Amino acid sequence: MATDSIPVKIGKTLVIGGGNPIVVQSMCNTHTEDVKGTAEQCVRLFKGGARLVRITCPGRQNVKDFIAIRALIEEAGYDIPLVADIHFSAEAAIEVAPYVEKVRINPGNFHKDHGLARAKFATLVEVCKKYGTAIRIGINHGSLGQRITSLYGNTPVGMAEAAMEWLRLCKENDFYQVVVSLKASNTLVMTEAYRLLAAKMKEEGFYFPLHLGVTEAGNGDSGRIKSCVGISTLLEEGMGDTVRVSLTEEPENELEAASYLAGRYDGTLTSCLKASRTEEKTVYATYDCPSRSRLLYDVSCDFGRDLLLKKIDRVIIDGVYADDAGNPVDIASSGLAQYLENELLQACRRKFYKPEYIACPGCGRTMYNLQESFEQVKSRTAHLKDVVIAVMGCIVNGPGEMADADWGYVGEGNHKVTIYKGKTPVASHIPDTEAPDILVSLIEQEQARR
Ligand code: SF4
Repeated sequence: MATDSIPVKIGKTLVIGGGNPIVVQSMCNTHTEDVKGTAEQCVRLFKGGARLVRITCPGRQNVKDFIAIRALIEEAGYDIPLVADIHFSAEAAIEVAPYVEKVRINPGNFHKDHGLARAKFATLVEVCKKYGTAIRIGINHGSLGQRITSLYGNTPVGMAEAAMEWLRLCKENDFYQVVVSLKASNTLVMTEAYRLLAAKMKEEGFYFPLHLGVTEAGNGDSGRIKSCVGISTLLEEGMGDTVRVSLTEEPENELEAASYLAGRYDGTLTSCLKASRTEEKTVYATYDCPSRSRLLYDVSCDFGRDLLLKKIDRVIIDGVYADDAGNPVDIASSGLAQYLENELLQACRRKFYKPEYIACPGCGRTMYNLQESFEQVKSRTAHLKDVVIAVMGCIVNGPGEMADADWGYVGEGNHKVTIYKGKTPVASHIPDTEAPDILVSLIEQEQARR
C-alpha cells in the first residue's frame, strides 16, 4: 500500500490510503431495480471480504433503489459502504451522492462541452462535500474523450492527463475525499498509466489513493493471472490502496484473488516459492503450494513484473501443489508448468499463444447472458491467432470500452448481438444463437485477405 497517499474516509469507519490496509472491493452484477437480489449480493460480497461494494446507477430513477437496497442491508444487520457507478449522467451522480459513501464517475463523460462538464463536476463536488461522500475518478483506456485523444492519443499519458484535469479541480475546490483509477485491459498500458499519474500527483503536491484494477480481464485462469500481474506490479512499486479483480464471472469469485493481493502486499501472507535461480534471462522456480489457485497467484506476483519489464524472458516452474482432495500434484509432469508459463507470458504481453480476449465483468447494465456468451465465443475462436476479441455486456458502454480490440461482440438486449470490427459495427441485430458463427466467419474472411 502507499504510505504517502491522502487518507480518504469512506462511510463511518473505512479509510482508503494513508498507509491503511489495502481495501478489497467488488461490484454487483445484478440489475439495480432488483433491490432484493442486489442487497443479497452486497451481503455475500461483504461476507466474502469486500469492504465496499459498487452498484450501477444508470439514471436518476435508480436513486430510490439505492435507498431501498441500503434499508435491506441494514435490516439484515450489515453496514456496507456503497459506491454508485455512474457512466454519463451528472444528474444521477448529483442526486445519488447523498445516499451513498462514494460515487464513481468519469467526469469527462458528463458533457461533450468541456466547460459544461467542469461545471457539472463542480456541482457534484459541492454535494459530496456537504454529505461527506467520496468520489472515485475512474478513467478507462477505452473511453478517453475525443478532446484528450486529440491532444495525447489513446495512450497512458492521455489517461494520466485526463485524470489530472479533474484532480486539479478537486484541489482547487479544496476537496480531498478522492480516489482515482486508470484501468486498461492491457497490463503494460495500465501499469504505465498509473506510474505516470502517481508521479504527476506527487509533483503537484496531492497524492490521492489509487484504486488498482485490470479492466475487462476476462475469466478463469487468464483473467486472474492478468489481474495479478497488473495489480501486483504496481503494489510491488509501492502504489495502490484498494483493489478490484474484475472477472467475467459472478463477482463473489473475484474475492479470492483480490484478498490474496491485499494480504500479500499488506504482509500477512507470503509466496510458496521454495527456491529459484536465474540463468541468463530464464528463471527456474520451485513451489510447494496448498492449492492450484495459490500457485497461480504466487507465480503471477513473483514473476509478472519482471516479465512485464523484460528483466526476464521465461519462468520454468516445478514442485508440487495440493489438489482439492489434498493430494500432491507434480507441477511439471501434469503439464501445468508449460501452461502457466504461456498464460503468464500472454498476460505480460510477451507471447500470444492464443487469441487475446477482453471481456467486461458485467453489471446492472448487462443486456444478455454475458458469461455464457463469452464462453461460446472463446470456444469457437480458440483456434485463431493474432486477434484481440472483446465480449461486452451492453451496447451503451461496451463499444466505447473495447479499447484496442480488433473485434467486438456486444449484447444489444432481446437475445441480439452486434459485431464490431474495431469501432465500426459490421453486423447488427444478429440472434445470439447465430452470432458466434458469424463472428468466426468474419474474422476468418478478414485473416484470409491479409
Ligand atoms: S460494458 Fe459491461 S461492465 Fe461496462 S456498463 Fe456495459 S455491461 Fe456493465
